[in-house]
Amino acid sequence: MKTIPENGQNHADILKEMQAYGGQDVNYKEAKTWSLVYHLNEEHTDFLKQAYGLYFSENALNPMAFKSLKRFETDVVNMTASMFHGDANAVGTITSGGTESCLLPVLTYRDMAKAKRKLPIKPEMIVPESVHVAWSKAAKYFGVKIIYAPLKEDFRVDVEAVRKLINRRTILIVGSAPSYPHGVIDPIAELSLIAQQNDIPLHVDACLGGFLLPFIEKNGVRLPEFDFRLPGVTSISADVHKYGFAAKGASTLIYRSMDYMKHQFFVHEDWPGGVFASPALLGTRPGGSFAAAWAAMHALGEDGYRENAKQIMDITQKLQTGINQIEGLAVMGKPDMSVFAYRSTDEDLNIFAVGDQLEKQGWHVDRLQRPEGLHVMVVPGHAKIIDQYLTDIEAAVQAVRKNPDLATAGNAAMYGMIAKLPFRGMIKKEVLKMMEDLYSPKGAMPMDNGENPWSVRVMAKIMQRLGKSKRVKK
Ligand SMILES: *Cc1c(COP(=O)(O)O)cnc(C)c1O
Repeated sequence: MKTIPENGQNHADILKEMQAYGGQDVNYKEAKTWSLVYHLNEEHTDFLKQAYGLYFSENALNPMAFKSLKRFETDVVNMTASMFHGDANAVGTITSGGTESCLLPVLTYRDMAKAKRKLPIKPEMIVPESVHVAWSKAAKYFGVKIIYAPLKEDFRVDVEAVRKLINRRTILIVGSAPSYPHGVIDPIAELSLIAQQNDIPLHVDACLGGFLLPFIEKNGVRLPEFDFRLPGVTSISADVHKYGFAAKGASTLIYRSMDYMKHQFFVHEDWPGGVFASPALLGTRPGGSFAAAWAAMHALGEDGYRENAKQIMDITQKLQTGINQIEGLAVMGKPDMSVFAYRSTDEDLNIFAVGDQLEKQGWHVDRLQRPEGLHVMVVPGHAKIIDQYLTDIEAAVQAVRKNPDLATAGNAAMYGMIAKLPFRGMIKKEVLKMMEDLYSPKGAMPMDNGENPWSVRVMAKIMQRLGKSKRVKK
């Protein structure tokens, strides 16, 4: 097992070694990725590093000690709240990321229900099937039962189904603006109506779209309303570290008023370490990411965000048109912004095999299940690779058509089988075991050959089980 080096090492050597490790990472700078990194340009990144560096050591755990950070937080919250048409009562916090901005509302509304009525024995929340996984994590962490409402053909949540799922245990309804898999905005106006009728809080997960949709709208595109203009919306999460183009570690969680947010606060008055109060999940809160979020919003300004939104939507349009023109492929639904998925419309064309071919061309491809597809999330850097990507998809489709066996080889076979396999419990169990490997003292690294270690593991196990059960039957 590795230990701390006995003697400190030379800075230059350390940095050199660290840089070398990055050599095998996915290549976001050449826009080969379709997720994970929201990179604007080198100049902006250098500026963010400076802003981050100014408050590198500062800690927003104690806002009285670091008034600067409290100011950044208040400003970021106010700018975000007004972007969402909140009124003078709107409040909020900076959080460490979208996940924290989705975890906290579950806690807040659970405890609000507890305070307002007798806590339902088993609190429930109703979410669209397409909602981000952070919500099921929240359900697990905070003991709230998650009830999935089905989607309609257009991939938006079925509001009638949501209405039917409401009962006296319901503490929260969630809608996405937009959903991560298909990039469509749920019918928030209709959800707002039923939330009001039933006096249930409605959270809009705009982690992805929060810093893009308002500017698409300002550019003159009509979008369905999703923010505080709708009276039933009680809170909104929006990640500054996604389309806000801030440094990682910054999201926002905005509430319509303190009536809601007060249930999020934590105070322990008897701690020997002193009376302790905390607004959100973290203890130590990194000043650098607060500072970079504030700096990003000031550096870009409304005109910068609008310009980015225009460029991003132009790229999106071109990609969608190009993909729809390729025979056998189609964009899923009618995405409202720059995140979308495409699938095969041809039984003989395996979309995961197309994904494998794209990976051979150096693209980092994200796969969707139910229905199966490949995922796209556009950033400005993609402007320079539109044609290259479309050409490579076209070539990938040709290769798969020529050699349909590709669908039963490599990753495609695994993803296909895993997506369709009825034994979901077994998949979960095997992935959990893979996590134990990955976080074991040896820290098993992902495979060098580009195969996804958990899919390999799950497949091996499935084959073994299938083999066994056949043997048993005989
Ligand atoms: C990214 C995302 C999240 C989670 O955000 P993280 O910053 O990755 O923790 C939640 N909801 C949606 C819709 C997202 O796109």
